[in-house]
Amino acid sequence: MTTAPIPFIDLKTQRARMGSAVDEAILKVVNHGAYIMGPEVTELERQLSAFCGARHTLTCANGTDALALVLMAKGVKPGDAVFVPAFTFVATAEVVAWVGATAVFVDVLEDSFNMDPAHLARSIAWAREAGLNPVGVIPVDLFGQPADYTAIMPVAEVNGLWLMSDAAQSFGAKLHNRSVGTYGLATSTSFFPAKPLGCYGDGGAVFTDDDELIEILRSLRIHGQGRDKYENVRIGINGRLDTIQAAVLLEKLKIFPDEIEARDRVAQRYNEALADVAVVPRVSAGATSVWAQYTLLLEDRNKVAAACQKAGVPTAIYYPIPLSHQEGYKHFPSGPGGVPMSEKLAGKVLSLPMHPYLGTDVQDRIIDVVRAAIAS
Ligand SMILES: *Cc1c(COP(=O)(O)O)cnc(C)c1O
Repeated sequence: MTTAPIPFIDLKTQRARMGSAVDEAILKVVNHGAYIMGPEVTELERQLSAFCGARHTLTCANGTDALALVLMAKGVKPGDAVFVPAFTFVATAEVVAWVGATAVFVDVLEDSFNMDPAHLARSIAWAREAGLNPVGVIPVDLFGQPADYTAIMPVAEVNGLWLMSDAAQSFGAKLHNRSVGTYGLATSTSFFPAKPLGCYGDGGAVFTDDDELIEILRSLRIHGQGRDKYENVRIGINGRLDTIQAAVLLEKLKIFPDEIEARDRVAQRYNEALADVAVVPRVSAGATSVWAQYTLLLEDRNKVAAACQKAGVPTAIYYPIPLSHQEGYKHFPSGPGGVPMSEKLAGKVLSLPMHPYLGTDVQDRIIDVVRAAIAS
C-alpha cells in the first residue's frame, strides 16, 4: 500500500502535464513587457466568450471584484436589498456590504446546496414589507453545480430584479445545454488557483450579453476611465487581470474540457463507492457539475474527519458557519423563517480530495478510510 501524502487539490501534476508550454507563455510576457492589459488579456477574453457563449467577457483581478464591479455598474446603494444564499463563501455577501446595501440571506436546498427559489420569493416579499428596496439576486453555483436558474429567473423577473450568477466554482458547467456565463444579466467567476479553472495567483471575470453593461464595466475596471485613463467619468477601481495570469489561463483553457471530464469520472466513482454509507452529492436533472468540491453529508462528520486526518487523507469543511451567523454579517436579515437548511448543512458537510488527477489507487485508499470511519 502506498502511503505518499494525498493532496486535497493536485496542482503539481497539472503543472507537470502542461510542461514547458506554460513556462514559454509566461516568459513571452516577461519579454514583450506589456504586463498590464497586454495582448494575452484581450485574447483570453475572446476565448472565454467563445468557450461559454457569452457575448462579452471582462477579465478582472479576482472573483470578488467581478461581483463588486457589477454591483457598482448597477448603482446598488444603501436601502437596496440584494438576495444571496446563506450557505456560500463570504465574498457573495461581502460585496453587497461594500456598496452599503443590505444582504438578505436566502436558504438553500438540501439536494443541490443551492438557493431555494421558493424561499427567495418569500424573502423578496418580506424585504419589501420591511421597507427595503429589492434590486437584485445573486445565486451561487455551489461546489460546481449551477443553481436552479429555470426556477429562480422567473422569480427575479416578476419582481423586477436583475440576476447575477456567482459562478466562482462552476465555470465550465452547463444547465439544459446552456453554459454557465449566459444566465441572467451577468455572471462572475474566479480564477483563484483552487477553482476548477485557476491561474497562478488571483484572477476573475464577468460575462454578460449586455452591450451597455460591458462598457460601464470596462470603465470601472480602470478607475472609472472615460475616453482615456486621464478622463474619469465615474468612481472605479484598479481591477485588471495581470497579463501573466492571462497567459497562464490561455494554456490551462486548452486542457480544461479534458479536466472537466476527468473531474466527473472521479465524482461518479466516489458516488458509486459511497452511496450506501453516506449522502452523496446529486447533480440535478439537466445540469452538469465541474465538481469544484466533492461534498458528503454525514451524521457524524467530526468522527470521519478525525479518522481521515489520522490516515493522512485531507478533508475540508465548506462551510462550517452560514453567513447569517458570521460575526461580521449577523446584522443582515435572513428571509422569513430563517435559514434552517443552511444551518443543518453547515453541521454535516465534509469535502473529500477532488481534482482531475486523482488516480483510482489513491481514490480507493480514500474510499476505504472513509467507509471504515463511517462504520466505526
Ligand atoms: C472563490 C469564491 C469567490 C471569490 O473569488 P476570489 O477570486 O477568491 O475573490 C466568490 N464566490 C464564491 C462562491 C467563491 O467560491
